[in-house]
Amino acid sequence: MTGFGTDHLPYGVFSVDGGPRRVGVRLDDGVLDLAALTDRPELAAPSLNPLMALGPQVWRETREHVAYLVDAGSPTVPVADVVLHLPFEVADYVDFYASEHHATNVGRIMRPDGEALTPNWKHLPIGYHGRAGTVVASGTPVVRPTGQRHADDVGPSRRLDLEAELGFVVGTPSPLGSPVPVSDLADHVFGVVGLNDWSARDLQAWEYVPLGPFLAKSFATTISHWVTPLAALDAAWCDLPAQDPRPADYLGPDVARGLDVDVEVELAGEVVARPPYSSHYWGPAQMLAHLTVNGASLRTGDLFASGTISGPGAHQRGSLLELSWGGREPFVVAGRERTFLEDGDEVVLRYSAPSTSGGRLTLGEVRGTIHPAR
Ligand code: MN
Repeated sequence: MTGFGTDHLPYGVFSVDGGPRRVGVRLDDGVLDLAALTDRPELAAPSLNPLMALGPQVWRETREHVAYLVDAGSPTVPVADVVLHLPFEVADYVDFYASEHHATNVGRIMRPDGEALTPNWKHLPIGYHGRAGTVVASGTPVVRPTGQRHADDVGPSRRLDLEAELGFVVGTPSPLGSPVPVSDLADHVFGVVGLNDWSARDLQAWEYVPLGPFLAKSFATTISHWVTPLAALDAAWCDLPAQDPRPADYLGPDVARGLDVDVEVELAGEVVARPPYSSHYWGPAQMLAHLTVNGASLRTGDLFASGTISGPGAHQRGSLLELSWGGREPFVVAGRERTFLEDGDEVVLRYSAPSTSGGRLTLGEVRGTIHPAR
C-alpha cells in the first residue's frame, strides 16, 4: 500500500537525466510518462498549467485515459530515477486563516487580554495575498530569513516556524467582474497540494500592524510535487463543524463542506502533531467564493491555501507557535527541549485521506530543511 494506487493518480512534472520537463502521473513507486504515452501537447508541457487551463471536462477525460493506460500495463519510470519539479506556474497566491482552533490559539497567545477571535472572524474567511514567485517545490532548502525583529533590531529570525496547510490549485479561469459561487468549486479547482507556509514570528509580530503578513511569510512557501485531482478526493468530503452565526448568503449557508484529510507534522525525525483538516471552520468552496465575491478574476495557476490546520487537541496544532505556546512552553523532540526551528531542522508534512476504493490516499509530502541565514 503506497497510497498512490489506481484510486489516486496525482499529477506532477518530472525530468530524467537532465531531459525536458514533462507531465507525469504517480502510480505506486513509478511515474507514468504521459508525454511519451500520448500525443497530447499539453502533457509534454513543462508545467501543469496547459492541462489545468482546459477545464473539468478535459480533466475527467484525461483521468479516464490515464486509468486506461494503467489497465493496459503501460511502463512506468521508477520514481527514484526522476527529478521532480514545481508542478505548476503559480499565478496568484492567497493564504486564508480558516481554522477556528488555530485562530483562537494565536489570539490567546498574541492578545492574552483581548478576545481570541476578532469580530469579523466568523463572518468571513480572513486571508492575505502572498508572494507567488517564492512558492517552491518540496525539498527546496529554506534559508532563514533576515529582517526587522523590532525597532533598531535587524537580524536573522529567532522565531522561525512552520504552518501545516492544504493548498487548492485553480485550473479554469474566471472573468473579471464575475464572482464564483460556492457551487462551482469543482469547475475551477483542479486539485490539492500539501503546503508549508513558513513564517518568521518575530518579523511578523513587528510588521503586521495594520496591513497583515508581509516579509514574515514571503521568503518561501513549500508545496508538494504531486497535485491530487479533486476527483480522487470524492470520498473525503465531510460536514464541517456547525457555523454560528449563519454566514452571508454568498458563503452558502448549510453547505459548509470540507475534506477529511489527516495531517502529520514531523520535526527532526519525530511526529510532533497530527492536525485534522476536518475540524476547519471555513471550507474550500467558501474560501473560493469569498476570494471572488468582489469580482476578482481567477487565473490558471492560482493557489489558495487553508491557513494553518489545527484541531482542538494539544497534539493537533499545526504550528510551533501553538505547540510551544508562543515559545513559553518548550516541548521535547528527540530528547531535547524545542520551541522554534533551528538551522539544520528538517520538517516533513504528510497527508492522507479516505479514497473511493475504501483505502487511503497518501497526498504528496512537503519537505524542507532550514539553512543558516546569509
Ligand atoms: Mn498560513
